[in-house]
Amino acid sequence: MAAELLDGAAVARAIRNEVARDVAGIVKRTGAAPRLAAVLVGDDPASQVYVRNKIAACREAGMRSDEVRLPADTPQERILSRVLQLNEDADIDGILVQLPLPPAIDRSAVVLALDPAKDVDGLHPLNAGRLQMKLDAPVPCTPAGIVELLDRYRLPIAGRHAVIVGRSDIVGRPLSILLLQRDATVTVCHSKTRDLPSITRQADILIAALGRPAFLGRDHIRDGATVIDVGINRLDDAAAAAAIFGSDSPRVRSVRERGYTLVGDVHPVEAALRAAHLTPVPGGVGPLTIACLLRNTLRAARLRRRLVAQ
Ligand code: NDP
Repeated sequence: MAAELLDGAAVARAIRNEVARDVAGIVKRTGAAPRLAAVLVGDDPASQVYVRNKIAACREAGMRSDEVRLPADTPQERILSRVLQLNEDADIDGILVQLPLPPAIDRSAVVLALDPAKDVDGLHPLNAGRLQMKLDAPVPCTPAGIVELLDRYRLPIAGRHAVIVGRSDIVGRPLSILLLQRDATVTVCHSKTRDLPSITRQADILIAALGRPAFLGRDHIRDGATVIDVGINRLDDAAAAAAIFGSDSPRVRSVRERGYTLVGDVHPVEAALRAAHLTPVPGGVGPLTIACLLRNTLRAARLRRRLVAQ
């Protein structure tokens, strides 16, 4: 039986509506909508799309946003001073630095420069530490969205074996903390993990966040598992798309007509035959990440301006 698709886009829409309602309340009370600054260094095409989508989502929710674009060869000191300016700008509630940064930039230095109160991605060590200690903190957007999706579909977490493939600061690691706090048994796999399929096949909930197109297939997935595909990979080769989706799939047409199609880290066709629940790509985790970013910006605005949620 084919897996039920978990409609991340629909859950994201519900979250965005909730945020928009609360933003309207803040505007009514204070006259000023929450404001997000998105810092984009360089011209990575995928990052440009992500930032554009985030800015559009802010607008739709009634929030203000600024896109701060810096050329790829901007010296680190210049990036840091721009971040400090945004920290000091009392009218800005949230700052996100779009990752990845150009290779010459020390990402930790940039994250450390963020005012923790404006860190809407929850990356600053103070916020990461607060999350570890179960204190109120901005939860990194993608992990927050995944937990929200499981909850809204009433898929139980407690007591389940969650296997996460990927241990990045923005996805795998914080997600492992959230799921552990929700009483899952958590295994985190990475590039040095031996015999990956034997571990992922134990998963009740399998989360793929490794950045390898259609990597996890039938051998990795247990029958009846819930599979959350975080990956976003661009396929621009029609033959590669045909090998994954089948030669008569509209995805292959999309590569020919638009130049690319998106695929996750999970093989969508093989997973659909094994899993009970599966997130599609696109339309799964991606929209949830943006919705949770808006929620974190709203949270930052409330805390900074001492507004109580109503
Ligand atoms: P990173 O590149 O930062 O981390 C990748 C992780 O996967 C690393 O921990 C790496 O291990 C592990 N890994 C890589 N290859 C393998 C392998 N063959 N077997 C097991 N583990 C492996 O990626 P991100 O976390 O930033 O992103 C992961 C994916 O999610 C990407 O496709 C990205 O585009 C997507 N993404 C999607 C978002 C959304 O909103 N949907 C948001 C953020 C990311 P090691 O640590 O040993 O190197």
